[in-house]
Amino acid sequence: MRSTMQDVPLSLGRLMQYGTTAYADASVVTATADGTRTRSYGEVGRRVARLANALRDLGITGDERVGTFMWNNAEHLEAYLAIPSMGAVLHTINIRLFPEQVVYVVNHAEDRVVIVDASLAEPFAAMLPEMTTVTHVLVARPDTEQADLSSLEATGRTILRYEDVLEAASEDFAWPEVDERDAAAMCYTSGTTGNPKGVVYSHRSAYLHSMSMAMGDNAGMGPDDRVLPVVPMFHANAWGLPYAAVLVGASLVMPDRWLQAEPLVRLIQETRPTLAGGVPTIFNDVLGWIDEHPSDLRSLRAVLCGGSAVPESLQRALWDRHGVRIQQAWGMTETSPVATSGKPPVGLSDEEAWPYRAGQGRLLGGVEGRLVGGDGEILPHDGEAVGEVEVRGPWITGAYYLDDDPEKFRDGWLRTGDVGTIDRQGFITLTDRAKDVIKSGGEWISSVELENALMGHPDVVEAAVVGIPDEKWQERPLATVVVRSGATVTPEELRDHLAGSFAKWQLPDAWTFIDAVPRTSVGKFDKKVLRRRYADGGLD
Ligand code: ADP
Repeated sequence: MRSTMQDVPLSLGRLMQYGTTAYADASVVTATADGTRTRSYGEVGRRVARLANALRDLGITGDERVGTFMWNNAEHLEAYLAIPSMGAVLHTINIRLFPEQVVYVVNHAEDRVVIVDASLAEPFAAMLPEMTTVTHVLVARPDTEQADLSSLEATGRTILRYEDVLEAASEDFAWPEVDERDAAAMCYTSGTTGNPKGVVYSHRSAYLHSMSMAMGDNAGMGPDDRVLPVVPMFHANAWGLPYAAVLVGASLVMPDRWLQAEPLVRLIQETRPTLAGGVPTIFNDVLGWIDEHPSDLRSLRAVLCGGSAVPESLQRALWDRHGVRIQQAWGMTETSPVATSGKPPVGLSDEEAWPYRAGQGRLLGGVEGRLVGGDGEILPHDGEAVGEVEVRGPWITGAYYLDDDPEKFRDGWLRTGDVGTIDRQGFITLTDRAKDVIKSGGEWISSVELENALMGHPDVVEAAVVGIPDEKWQERPLATVVVRSGATVTPEELRDHLAGSFAKWQLPDAWTFIDAVPRTSVGKFDKKVLRRRYADGGLD
């Protein structure tokens, strides 16, 4: 029997029209060089219609791709809303990729128009001649009158100012009815091996992911929230925070390009967000800053943190010393990205809850997980068996865009490449990424566990552990350590610090002290670089 329910598509156009009307008074606050600027959702809604008209006038029809090369700000939010709502496809371009990768993703996605932040005009202009499908560039920011666009204009493409085209466009747009399964947005993985791979989100997946983000088991967002996405909007849709915020009328606070600890802390103190989201390295920097400069970040009821393992020591330090609670989440570009929520089970004491906070969180309603062993056998969810985590669900990708990669999919499940356990209640604890596990004499050593323990040492700011080739054991752990300024620690002290929690054969043999751990384009430890640097065991 079929249901009697109406079949109304879950579309980002509906989400946008609802949020900018029902919550016309909510606002998006954007950081500027010397303060902030504010735009109401009502105004955003009118500008979104103008942008859609302007893009139509430039010839964008059907599912053509419109790229963004932008920071987190009000204009990027407008692009997030206008492009999918008009039926086109939003392609958020990671501004930190290598130039040849940026060119690759723009050509692969066949972007027709790209909206570029004025502060990024120069680097974009240098790549534009190689971009074969881009006909128009819109240069965004309210203050672009002063921006020098000569480098862009020299490419011979049509260069327009975003504010000029919006001003000339109508505030009425006939929003089309879209098929909820059609493409709404796309995002390329950062391509740690080979070329970046495209993930294409549907209207339905983005809508359902937004609803999940807002639910109480997840981020629990509502109209009384002010949400600060520190995670870039060019990385996995800023974890879906902008769409979820618009859906539930939560205001947004956007850091623009001021992502260092000092301006971020200032922004938080001035705008009092209730929820933030970002990778652990950023909040490690924030911790370092607020330890030295008394600050009040307690407007934040939670900081969603993920993208890489969030050390318990970082979580405890922020909570014990500053009253800021981290809520870990796990996911990937391929999973929209949020797939778990790090809220511990109810009824536990604070101490009992810590192992849950330190783990990767519970699989969300809507995301199924399974654990697969080395021979393809399905392992029990008993919190003990270790295998590769595979997931499926309505906001998990089933393929890559124009890229037939059967390696990453098995029987309709996404192989995440993450290794760990799942317990009876669906809590995942990752021991490593498959490619980062250190294989020593037939045994596996978790680089993440060593890193977390090292970062628990009071004089260690950051630590990354990689496997380096070893004739006898195949691989042995090498620890790269960043020491707090002014402190001195020896490898012997650090080995002693680890000795209580690890077997002797798991302890790093080689140590090197460095100024900073190299990071990927999205702020994670770049272990590829470390492995290359220390491949011959030679230390700095
Ligand atoms: P990239 O693969 O380029 O780093 P993604 O952001 O899609 O880009 O990375 C997803 C990966 O990040 C996951 O497969 C996992 O290895 C890691 N990750 C994400 N969240 C966590 C977390 N909370 N703990 C440990 N690892 C995480």
